[in-house]
Amino acid sequence: MVAPWVVDDRIDLRTLDLAETEAFVRALGQPAYRGEQLWRWVHGAGARTWDEMSNLPKALREALADQAELGTLTVDQVQTSRDGTRKLRLTTRDGRAIESVLIPDGEKLTQCISSQVGCALDCQFCATAKLGLARHLDPGEIVDQVYRARALLAEVEPGRRITNLVYMGMGEPLHNYDNVIKSLRLLTHELGANLSQRRITVSTVGLVPAIEKLGREDVRPNLAVSLNASCDEVRDQIMPVNRKYDIARLLGAIRAYPLERRRRVTFEYVLLAGVNDTMDDAARLARLLGGIPCKLNLIPWNPHPEAPYQRPSPEAIEAFQNQVKRLGLPAYLRTPRGDDIDAACGQLANRAQGAPVVPLRRRAGRA
Ligand code: SF4
Repeated sequence: MVAPWVVDDRIDLRTLDLAETEAFVRALGQPAYRGEQLWRWVHGAGARTWDEMSNLPKALREALADQAELGTLTVDQVQTSRDGTRKLRLTTRDGRAIESVLIPDGEKLTQCISSQVGCALDCQFCATAKLGLARHLDPGEIVDQVYRARALLAEVEPGRRITNLVYMGMGEPLHNYDNVIKSLRLLTHELGANLSQRRITVSTVGLVPAIEKLGREDVRPNLAVSLNASCDEVRDQIMPVNRKYDIARLLGAIRAYPLERRRRVTFEYVLLAGVNDTMDDAARLARLLGGIPCKLNLIPWNPHPEAPYQRPSPEAIEAFQNQVKRLGLPAYLRTPRGDDIDAACGQLANRAQGAPVVPLRRRAGRA
């Protein structure tokens, strides 16, 4: 079967795991150990050109230049907020726009990455939902967001490292399950980027069978659940996925999820004025989540023109947080970042709709 990431007979090396890279190199008539060398360049060093692969023979580098790509994304826009948040718009080889965001917080630098072009889940408060689902991202396109961001940082903030990764950009990661799992394996491999699983979080709206499957994987990122309501009536309205997997079923899967010691599930709760921010919501939430090792992230809604909601007042947000804390839930307020740069997920890509399609890049090694 032809892999979906092969286009015009050229393969994106960033999609390949170590064994696949060794097989690819053997098919080029080279010994398997060259595959490991190549893999270290591609996933460990994040090489951007064939020329820098100094320990590979020239003939192999020429064959690679002829038959392979070193990532397929192009960074075509970077917005920098007053608070230091950087939002990258990247273009795929078929001219689709996706987003990735770098969020500094002291020493910590978290990258939020996309897993799909658009999204099919139709959450009513989300700008990405307005795009619909165009397609899944392949594993190379997922990891390439990290490598492109690293290359950007090396230019604009040398020495600054990405410390944490969240699959919380465009798309529902567990809807693109196999590609996301492969990307996790690529990013956490000790010969590659070697990111710690403990510093990677996958955020889901609650695709219950996929959560159950994730619990059986050998790669186990942190889990975040986008909850956003304290009862099915409201969640059905703002998150259609709830009509299939209601709150009881979702929390049943979370309670059964095999958490490692001292790890907690994060529940994300976007606060929408008059929709899910009452004291009754706070009380129901505390009852629902009682007994689950978890924390609650309260996120005041990031306004965008496509949705009819309002961010609660600072007083209402504080009252809600105090109430859930009083009822025993560790609750943290996530202040909106990048307010001045199309910060809501999907806004930047939404703007790209109608923009000229970027031509397929025929040679690797350029951001
Ligand atoms: S919130 Fe996430 S799952 Fe829901 S529509 Fe937006 S991107 Fe998709």
